[in-house]
Amino acid sequence: MRYTFSKVKISGWIETSLVDVIGHVSFSVWFSYCNFRCLWCQNRPVIIGEKVLEIDVDKLVETVKEHAWLVDFLHVTGGEPTLQPVQLTELFKCVKERTNLKTSLSTNGSRPNVIQNLLKENLLDHLAIDVKAPIDDEELYAKVIGLEKGDVVRSVAESLSIAVKNLDFIEVRTTLVPRLLEVKDMGNIAKYLSTLGKIKRGRRFIYVVQQFSPSETVLNEEYRRMRRGEPEDVLKAAKMASKYLDWEIYARTLDIGVVKIK
Ligand code: SF4
Repeated sequence: MRYTFSKVKISGWIETSLVDVIGHVSFSVWFSYCNFRCLWCQNRPVIIGEKVLEIDVDKLVETVKEHAWLVDFLHVTGGEPTLQPVQLTELFKCVKERTNLKTSLSTNGSRPNVIQNLLKENLLDHLAIDVKAPIDDEELYAKVIGLEKGDVVRSVAESLSIAVKNLDFIEVRTTLVPRLLEVKDMGNIAKYLSTLGKIKRGRRFIYVVQQFSPSETVLNEEYRRMRRGEPEDVLKAAKMASKYLDWEIYARTLDIGVVKIK
């Protein structure tokens, strides 16, 4: 049977990445555009679609296939990949058909139905999901993601619940953004995650607290000029999370790399 492939809007790819799926090497692709406007976002060119490459899914799959011997996962990040659900599904489906790679999605959690549909078709092996702020604080969440207060927290909560019920390998990530979040907020996020259910044998649930690091590609000018977050605060926040959560916990900073807390 002959497929008609969609075109996907991407901002680029890297053939081998060591940072997208913890403990694994991935071929990582950036899907263009995002529905959030986090002032501190590192990927301004990606989220506003500054340089978009429109490519056939088929062609992208062939590129992934050429490098499949080097990596364990195809990782799709962004931007927000769930904004192109048809292309995302096609990409994962074809990669599973044509290679032995596992699939990984990085998402802001705003489109639980897309995650659910990928799972229904058995197309997802690893999910990295951002929890940007405590789930029970809608106002703070909206501030951190640069939007008006809305339904986002409910969608993120639903995405988390779907992930915990259905996947064996999950990474939840929070960036400790100076002026917006405090160490205690990671404690609140960890408490929430601990209510989602117990980890069964053979499953890896991971919580990573990340450092904010300014660069020329940060969305908001004030955040572009801000100092990098203190590594000690990231460590403190990850330790705080470890008091409440029985998952693997890591602190990730540029200064001291990835430190396993638990
Ligand atoms: S940090 Fe925020 S704006 Fe940037 S890609 Fe992630 S969700 Fe989108």
